[in-house]
Amino acid sequence: MASVLQQLDEIRANQENLYRDLHAHPELSHRETRTAAEVVERLHAAGCEVHTHVGGTGVVGVLQNGDGPGVLLRADMDALPVREETGLDYASAATATDAAGNETPVMHACGHDVHVACLVGAVELLARSTEQWRGRLVAVFQPGEEVADGAQRMVDDGLAEIAGKADVALCQHVLAFPAGLVGTRSGPTLSAADSMRITVHGRGAHGSMPQAGIDPVVLAAMIVVRLQTIIARETQPGEPVVLTVGSVQAGTKSNVIPDRATILLNIRTYDEDTRRAILAAVKRIVVAECDASRSPRPPEFELLDQYPMTDNDPAVTERVAAAFDHHFGEDAGELPLLTASEDFSDIPRALGIPYTYWGIGGTDPDLYRQAETEGRVADDVPVNHSAKFAPPIQPTLDTGTAALVVAALTFFDEA
Ligand code: ZN
Ligand code: ZN
Repeated sequence: MASVLQQLDEIRANQENLYRDLHAHPELSHRETRTAAEVVERLHAAGCEVHTHVGGTGVVGVLQNGDGPGVLLRADMDALPVREETGLDYASAATATDAAGNETPVMHACGHDVHVACLVGAVELLARSTEQWRGRLVAVFQPGEEVADGAQRMVDDGLAEIAGKADVALCQHVLAFPAGLVGTRSGPTLSAADSMRITVHGRGAHGSMPQAGIDPVVLAAMIVVRLQTIIARETQPGEPVVLTVGSVQAGTKSNVIPDRATILLNIRTYDEDTRRAILAAVKRIVVAECDASRSPRPPEFELLDQYPMTDNDPAVTERVAAAFDHHFGEDAGELPLLTASEDFSDIPRALGIPYTYWGIGGTDPDLYRQAETEGRVADDVPVNHSAKFAPPIQPTLDTGTAALVVAALTFFDEA
């Protein structure tokens, strides 16, 4: 393992250049064409069999190095519609047209540029040391993580055939804790997320004549309040569950009773039974409230983006955690339960293989420790999706690259 990682010194400068270039040229979900082209060039140079346009802009690099276990490593490539405020000399000034046709600034505010640079670097290191391991390396560069469907699009476009023999899937995310640290977690790690649009119907009328109408504003208000009883009265106390109504829209004028109301809600869960129970309870309550309000038409439910739960396989996680302990020493620890969500697990689920997903630090360690000392972590440490999220290039890239290599070598056969 040490001899594989020794070559990091030889690729580091080039990898840092790639990172700065990716950071300065972020692309929105499913538009990652420039990023994909950069990846393709480097995978070819490393000697990979390269598959392009997998699920749109997705790229897969395969390195078959004798007989042995198949290890799938995944990085996501997309950026966010955020105006960068990091002040870095390689900050993004990019803009793009979003799906709604609006011009928007674009930034790698979730650190997916870190993921791409680390995975490219890991492939290069493993390609340079094929005499050290035996197996099949499958490097997946996924589009559209931020819109929750990129992994599924790759699966639907034949990822299983391209991946071929894959026995385990591994993935990492840069997070707002000190750079240089890595964190693993067994079992549920990231929440499932379900977003839903609910439309309820009333009957429009003059605001002075409520008896002539059926008021969807009052109906929506009842629904919003009653939905909170699902968490308060129907789930087990202490179970981590979130139900947020993020938008309620009805009417435009004070003296007009509108004919409909629209509610947008988001649900986060860590247990499939709980998730199913909550979704069923939402429908039950909405239908019953519509009935109670004499709604003239049944409500409509539209599921928007949905993220699966990330539920790390205990055996795989144990092996990776042991390897990290050995390699990183005190810099390896446990990741807390996160309320964020990811679509990575759609890939191993479709392939029928176990997986683990770990975190790497992406905050300047001095800045983090000072904020911690002053009790100001929440105030002073920019998190993912913040316009100020700015992972220091090092030790972030070295750590993320080493983590992928160490984890992959844990599963490959020794040569
Ligand atoms: Zn994100
Ligand atoms: Zn992300």
